[in-house]
Amino acid sequence: MSWFLWVAIALLAATLVWSLLRHRALRRRLEQYSAAVRRAADGNAPVSGLPSDVAGLEDISNAVAALNAASDFQLSTLESERARLAAVLDQMTDAVLIADPEGRVQFANPAAERFGRGQAIGRSISEVLRHHQLIQAWQRSQESGEMQIESAELPPTRQFVQLIVIPDQYAQGGTLVLVQDLTRVRRLETVRRDFVSNLSHELRTPLASLRALAETLRDGALEDPPAARRFLDQMLIEVDALSQMVAELLELSRIEAGEVTLERKPVMPLELLSSTAARMEIQAQRAGLALRVDCPPDLPQIRVDASRLEQVLVNLIHNAVKFTRPGGELSLLAEATAEGIRFAVKDTGIGIPLDDLPRIFERFYKSDRSRSGGGTGLGLSIARHLVESHGGRIWAESVEGQGSTFYFTIPLHQS
Ligand code: ADP
Repeated sequence: MSWFLWVAIALLAATLVWSLLRHRALRRRLEQYSAAVRRAADGNAPVSGLPSDVAGLEDISNAVAALNAASDFQLSTLESERARLAAVLDQMTDAVLIADPEGRVQFANPAAERFGRGQAIGRSISEVLRHHQLIQAWQRSQESGEMQIESAELPPTRQFVQLIVIPDQYAQGGTLVLVQDLTRVRRLETVRRDFVSNLSHELRTPLASLRALAETLRDGALEDPPAARRFLDQMLIEVDALSQMVAELLELSRIEAGEVTLERKPVMPLELLSSTAARMEIQAQRAGLALRVDCPPDLPQIRVDASRLEQVLVNLIHNAVKFTRPGGELSLLAEATAEGIRFAVKDTGIGIPLDDLPRIFERFYKSDRSRSGGGTGLGLSIARHLVESHGGRIWAESVEGQGSTFYFTIPLHQS
């Protein structure tokens, strides 16, 4: 054999040994890499710790690293969306519940826990909903597999709720239940309806009188000048009452719409009471009433719109005059309290029934129509709005037959 052949055999043998060694090393790296992937998949090692660019396995290890980065990105997107959804569900005022096909609550947001009065998860949906109409709506949705909407007033709190049951498209037989509190919306609707009906009622009376007076004049009273004059005077009184009502309504709607801006200036409480008393003196005298002011001269100044507060006092004194029999007494008082300066208009009049006390500040409310003395029922609503826009509060105390005291406070420190 020539030396050439020997060299070839030697080279071949060396190549064989080299590739055998290389193959074993590669197999070892592959085994180590798959063990690392398996550990990561089993959750025993962080996926982020997987090596990339493994010698001899560059393609696959880099592909796994890229896959890992992509799934990391998707996971963090999902996580931030989940957190956002959780925050929305937490902050929602509507109750959200998810129930399984057996009607066990699987998920409840904080509003649902409040609605169900305690832990809702794990309880049956009937226990959480409590009201038969709402439970029936949920059952209807279970049977039909369709969305159901139902509303009901819950007896103890008179809370008015709307229930929406939506079949859960991700869980066969499961349901998504939404409970919305519509109490406020319904109350506003009632207020609006009452307002319109009260207004029409209030307008009807003077309009009917005007019509009757005009008809009497047309049908002959015109020929009797003294009677005609009386009728005309009466018509003027009715027109005045209508104009006053329109003016008060406009005033009230302007205040409610926030269109009235207060021009605050420092005022001494005594100054405010004295100037109002001077304005109302004659009216009180005519009604046979004594009007006195009782206010320490050294009370601290308040920053208020003096003309608006005088309007509050005038409205209160006007009522006190109207509802106090001759010989009675009206007092205008002020004193310093923890809440600020507390003003009071006190009378020795007929008083207000206890049941009516909380309602007299509502629009058009008159505690007794027969003795309301032709008022509009708007004066106290206006007073309440004006006091509240100064940051204070207004209320009344009264004993029927003995008199009433209307209080309002004005805080000393206002913006
Ligand atoms: P009105 O124009 O009818 O006086 P208000 O809003 O000023 O309207 O008052 C509402 C109702 O509250 C009155 O109709 C009356 O029944 C009652 N009221 C208010 N002030 C007094 C008072 N000082 N004494 C007795 N009842 C009062």
